[in-house]
Amino acid sequence: MQHRISEHTQGLMVCERAIKRQFEISEQELLEGETGNLDPLQEQQHEVVPGMINKYGNRVLCLMTAECASYCRFCTRRRLVSDLESGRIDFSHIDEWVRYLRQHPEVREVILSGGDPFIVEDRLFDYALDEISAVSSVKVIRIGTRAPVTDPALVNSNKLQAIRRVEQPVYVGIHFEHPSEITKPTIGAIKGLRCAEAILYSQTVFLSGVNDDFQTLHDLFTGLVEIGVRPYYIYRCDPIPGAAHFRVDLDKERRIVSELRRSLSGLAFPTYVIDAPDGSGKIPVPLEFWDTNTSVYTDFEGKKHDTK
Ligand code: SF4
Repeated sequence: MQHRISEHTQGLMVCERAIKRQFEISEQELLEGETGNLDPLQEQQHEVVPGMINKYGNRVLCLMTAECASYCRFCTRRRLVSDLESGRIDFSHIDEWVRYLRQHPEVREVILSGGDPFIVEDRLFDYALDEISAVSSVKVIRIGTRAPVTDPALVNSNKLQAIRRVEQPVYVGIHFEHPSEITKPTIGAIKGLRCAEAILYSQTVFLSGVNDDFQTLHDLFTGLVEIGVRPYYIYRCDPIPGAAHFRVDLDKERRIVSELRRSLSGLAFPTYVIDAPDGSGKIPVPLEFWDTNTSVYTDFEGKKHDTK
């Protein structure tokens, strides 16, 4: 994965080491190298047309671009993110997606992701939203992004208008890792999205040295609710090559999340999940309130996995 850090992110890195750690290439990453499973969610084998992944039947993932404003060193899609040649999407890809959606009315939810959909040119973004929302069997549109954090200026008025035009509910999932990411420009982007009638939620990855302590996550989730973003998921970091140094001990994560459950309101508390390595889905991790054996879990397809 290439190295790129937006000017906005560079500004955040100056005063917050936890943000620097997310974007700077570390010695550990270089030592770990790129060998191993680059597609832990098994997306490639579920690609039904170029750029569109259908793993679950009732919802599809559309990869709008391989580009992001800043590249996170723990990115689950590092197999394709920053590869601007093979990840290039144009109008003809969107036409193919729409054809697929018309042939598959059982797909009710479309998730636009990438890379970052907010970095694509406005014309392509408009076209994707207009064409996909015109398919009557599509009932929900979701956009996964980190732009409000890494480069809030990408959330521009053209894109907001395109979101506002969509009749279906548009859910925007924003990737946040640390309370210092909630800056004035980020709050401005969030306000714009709320004015465009988007419904906002957050996703967070547990990261060693970034947010693996109670207070940081407490401040993050409280801060998010207060700006109108509902904390949705906190994930265990996927076993990506080059990102092992970001993985937190499972027992430590459970301890922190159990403590969060005690102190946060239900609204501010996200679901803590592990992504099954066979790509079958997100399995909720039991908290410390129950006596359970957490060394092994069973995925949605009945397969057992070791958590260590
Ligand atoms: S913004 Fe998302 S897609 Fe882009 S590098 Fe970060 S985690 Fe990966």
